[in-house]
Order: sequence, then structure tokens, then C-alpha cells
Amino acid sequence: MRLRVGTPFVLSCPAAVSLAMWERHDVQPAAQRRFGRAATGIEHFGSYACRNIRGREAGPRSRHASADALDVAAVVLEGGRRVSVASHWRADGPEAAFLRDLHRGACRWFDVVLGPDHDAAHADHLHVDRGPGRACR
Ligand SMILES: [Zn+2]
Repeated sequence: MRLRVGTPFVLSCPAAVSLAMWERHDVQPAAQRRFGRAATGIEHFGSYACRNIRGREAGPRSRHASADALDVAAVVLEGGRRVSVASHWRADGPEAAFLRDLHRGACRWFDVVLGPDHDAAHADHLHVDRGPGRACR
């Protein structure tokens, strides 16, 4: 990978492979297509966290508990421009189109992709994971 991915993080092998494929086949081509620049970084809210889904006391373990998930908050482009889910998902223009490219592309490499259109808990990030679930919302 040529991308810097935020602060150091733990990610399972299947999820790391998916991230690398996503970067090569979706993130970089979309950055070139929409902005004529390379993506240089991904900002994230974390991967590994031993918790249940949405941090609830009971219920199933989140994919974050096995390091199979990553919450992607923003992509930084060459030159420093930052495209974030929180600021740009609902905006018009190339940033929103770029984020939708990323969401659609992630569904090819990850098993579950949840973004702002899924629910309010995902208003500021794209949750991507490898696991038994299947969703692209
Ligand atoms: Zn998540």
C-alpha cells in the first residue's frame, strides 16, 4: 500500500487484504478520476475494539472485537485536501461523488459496508468489515 492509514492499528489478515485491494482498485482510481490526484492517507476511527455491536451491553460481538473491521472517516489527497464522510457525504460536488465511489467499491472487497445512508450511528464514517455478514448500505 502507498497510503498512510492514520494511527497504527490492528487488522486481521482478510481485512488487511481487502483494504489493500480497495485502495488499489477503488480509492486511487476514484481520486484520480474525481480530483486528478493520488490519495495519500486514510483517517479512521479505529479497527480493533473488544466490544459488542454499537457498544451495547448485550448482543452480538461487533466485528471490531476480532479486528475484522475498520471505520473510515476521511481520505486525504495529495496536496492536503481532505474529504470526510462527516462533511461531504451529504454535500454536492466531487467530494460526495468520490465518497459514493468509495462506498460502492468497498462492497466488492468487504463483506459488510455501512455508511451514513444506513443509520445515524454511521453518519461520520464508513464501517467496512470481513465476516459472516453481508450488507452494502
Ligand atoms: Zn465500525
